[in-house]
Amino acid sequence: MSDHLVKATAEGVRVYAAVTTDLVNEAICRHKCYPTAAAALGRTLTGALLLSANLKNKECITMKFHGDGPLGTVVADANPEGFVRGYVDHPQIELPLNDGKLAVGKGIGKGLLSVTRFTGLKEPVTGSSEIFSGEIAEDITRYLYVSEQTPSSVGLGVLVGKDLRAVAAGGFIIQPLPDASESVLAKLENNLAGVRSVSSMVKDGYDAEGIIAELLHGFAVKYLSSTALAFKCQCSRARIEDMLVTLRPDDMNALLSDGKAEVCCHFCGEKYEFDKEDLLVISHVAEKLRERKTI
Ligand SMILES: [Zn+2]
Repeated sequence: MSDHLVKATAEGVRVYAAVTTDLVNEAICRHKCYPTAAAALGRTLTGALLLSANLKNKECITMKFHGDGPLGTVVADANPEGFVRGYVDHPQIELPLNDGKLAVGKGIGKGLLSVTRFTGLKEPVTGSSEIFSGEIAEDITRYLYVSEQTPSSVGLGVLVGKDLRAVAAGGFIIQPLPDASESVLAKLENNLAGVRSVSSMVKDGYDAEGIIAELLHGFAVKYLSSTALAFKCQCSRARIEDMLVTLRPDDMNALLSDGKAEVCCHFCGEKYEFDKEDLLVISHVAEKLRERKTI
């Protein structure tokens, strides 16, 4: 089953669910994550996709867990077209299990969760809230309540196998709309109290519609759309060259005397290599630009 996100409504409740096993695996492989980092990054990637799903085209969000735990900062960029990229500062730390579960909360620590919306037109808007448990889903729920005054229920899960690959990953977000009745809210609360983890549903072969059907058992669900999801970075050799052109002359000279440079994209781990000839061309372009500025 390839990764996808489904949107649905039911009796005054909005629900999005996603299966993200492949894209989480790609992130784990690209960043060579150990299990705790794999779960933290996988949950953050999935959470960012769920939050970006109701943006307009061309908009995107950056979700950042800036905690003081050993994982360092965890970041994901996502857009409503279904593309996401992200990284964790320290992907290869090992933490003892906490009650048989990966110690994601300990890995993240205390600090700030921030979500920035880029609309492409106006200045980006950033909201933030204190990290509560560091378990990601709970923190996103609190962020939505504190910063956006939106009551929500968020579930995220990444099951990591012994071979360090994600066996199953996915998530959901449920938001009662303002016209949801008391009885619908009570029914929803009852459903969510008994629900099992989303990763176990994905492991059992549930697609996003199946997850929604289980979450909203007994509701009249209307499925609206399905979007394919993928890990995708915006980096390119041309973008890295643009960045190298802005280096200070001293730094460029240091690269030239090394005779080569390797630049690694933080978000996807892709490596870009430049030999002496490439660097000479870039340094020449930089010089021309500086001359133009001084004129
Ligand atoms: Zn990249």
